[in-house]
Amino acid sequence: MSAPRVGVLALQGDFARHIASLEALVVDVMRVVRPEDLDGLDALVLPGGESTTMMKLMDANRLREPLTRAVREHPVLGTCAGAILLGIESTRLPGPPLGVLDLTLERNAYGRQIDSFTADVGVSVLGGSFPGVFIRAPRIRRVGAGVEVIARLPASDPAGEPVGVRRGRAVGLCFHPELTSDLRLHRWFLAEVAGLTLASHVQGTSEGPVGRPVSARAREAGR
Ligand code: GLN
Repeated sequence: MSAPRVGVLALQGDFARHIASLEALVVDVMRVVRPEDLDGLDALVLPGGESTTMMKLMDANRLREPLTRAVREHPVLGTCAGAILLGIESTRLPGPPLGVLDLTLERNAYGRQIDSFTADVGVSVLGGSFPGVFIRAPRIRRVGAGVEVIARLPASDPAGEPVGVRRGRAVGLCFHPELTSDLRLHRWFLAEVAGLTLASHVQGTSEGPVGRPVSARAREAGR
């Protein structure tokens, strides 16, 4: 059985960290920089970075229209700037984002780079808390009908502010699971949201080998 094939938008931002997390879960990763890179994907990830820059590069690479289609046709996970791209509107963007999640976001709403922080987030779909890394993160100011809040801050408050949402097969997170060694959210997205079958020997429950991606060669050798 061939490994699931997941595309990571690789125009700008921390796409390499998502690739490491996905490869640790024995997924084949395709870097998406051109429209044809979207062919044959099982799921798509939009990384953190600068949403303004990503949108400009998206237009320069003629990716806007194919990406707008792809985020509706495929399971998609957007983290931080990636979540901004999935929303319907955000403050100070050069144009409309991809609009697959009915959300209004406020960019950089926790402050500047120096105000970045880590905090435990309560994640309903994991049944517990997750280490949230917030870097010039957006705040979700409006959650539209049909959008389910799956993560709240602080973890101890079941009515805390929304920092993660899902509607159908689209997931947006204001924090960065790809910057931790905890693979649970990537695993949940692939298995539960995208319905993909992952290699049975990969646990991905907590600490994972991020930074030491499983190479394709090791996989072919059956190790
Ligand atoms: N501040 C960035 C933006 O508004 C998001 C930051 C991030 O992805 N860590 O696009």
